Amino acid sequence: MPEQKQVLWEDAAQPVTIQAWRAANGQVFDDERAARYAGCTHVACEDCGKPAPRGYVFCADCRERRRRERYAALPRRPWDGRTPVAEYLSDRFFYSWEEVEDCEEPPLLVHCRPCPVPQLDLLDFLCDWAIPDEEPDVPQSAWAAVAALNTALKTMEGQVWEPTDEAVEFPATEGESDER
Ligand SMILES: [Zn+2]
Repeated sequence: MPEQKQVLWEDAAQPVTIQAWRAANGQVFDDERAARYAGCTHVACEDCGKPAPRGYVFCADCRERRRRERYAALPRRPWDGRTPVAEYLSDRFFYSWEEVEDCEEPPLLVHCRPCPVPQLDLLDFLCDWAIPDEEPDVPQSAWAAVAALNTALKTMEGQVWEPTDEAVEFPATEGESDER
């Protein structure tokens, strides 16, 4: 015979008081940390404590300092002045010394290497927008269109380049430090 389960009536529930947090944007949370974050526009920079926009760990100054520190640690070699170079951690490319010299601030440059023609990844592309399903119900016609696009891209002429983690060494000029 199955064991008799204890009978619990609805009035077995007891009232409890919980502390809730109202975020600066009006949302209410039972978690203090979530509420503090939800309503904030800035957080304290983990390095210096100055305001960093929400979504960032470090303030703009510290992000730039860290970028320059990482760049300084890269292996480096001179540029032939012909192959493309790129600004470190950006999508800005340069094809000649003249273009580099036109910059207000000397950019931190890395060498580029030849790479295959880029292909569009449809799910990767869609995930830049909020789509509720983890596996969005993409119409078959869209898959076919992207496959056709990727096939066409492969016939594109000309070399495609991508940035590397190898810094461009500038020739030291007189009266100028070679710190960059
Ligand atoms: Zn900072």
